[in-house]
Amino acid sequence: METIRKLAILADAAKYDASCASSGAGRRDSRTSGGIGSTEGAGICHSYTPDGRCVSLLKILLTNFCIYDCAYCVNRVSSNVPRARFSVAEVVALTMDFYKRNYIEGLFLSSGIIRNADYTMERMVEVARVLREEHRFAGYIHLKTIPEASPELLAAAGRHADRLSINIELPTETGLASFAPEKSLPSIRGAMGELRWRIDEAKQAKADSDAGSATVSSP
Ligand code: SF4
Repeated sequence: METIRKLAILADAAKYDASCASSGAGRRDSRTSGGIGSTEGAGICHSYTPDGRCVSLLKILLTNFCIYDCAYCVNRVSSNVPRARFSVAEVVALTMDFYKRNYIEGLFLSSGIIRNADYTMERMVEVARVLREEHRFAGYIHLKTIPEASPELLAAAGRHADRLSINIELPTETGLASFAPEKSLPSIRGAMGELRWRIDEAKQAKADSDAGSATVSSP
């Protein structure tokens, strides 16, 4: 499948994932109006960094294949939608190409679950690692984490990404049992707690490092 076709499918499938973006606009498309600009194209959205800057993001799924069957999700295994999957190299190339053309300042990456949580999370972490370590990409990266993924993978994701998030899905065991039976509340809460702990740890490390620099530079 051509990359452009994959992009159309996987950018459209990502539009339901929260990336801290909020905007509203009427539907306009230069391809039908004959003018310039469009509010309909999928793939690029916006988010806010901790210092308040608004950045444009390539917002895509790694794949919309999923082994789970959550009743509320368009990507569930029983859904009759076109499927596509990017390789790690394809996501990296798209991000770098879009960045160099000044279309985006960062990447938002989420995914359906392929094989299992760890395999999927590994692929996502690898995208971030290759961008950071092999391409020296300093732009913004937001990874949507998979709740059942191992703590080591969440830690690796945190080393490369600016932001990690987890979908709460449904707040009660009963809701999950009815609509997302393969998921469990303890594992979602556990992953959220793990992220919370990692965020606190990173904040403390930064505070310690800032305090150290202030001491070194003071006369
Ligand atoms: S695990 Fe995620 S992508 Fe898969 S069906 Fe459930 S909500 Fe959709």
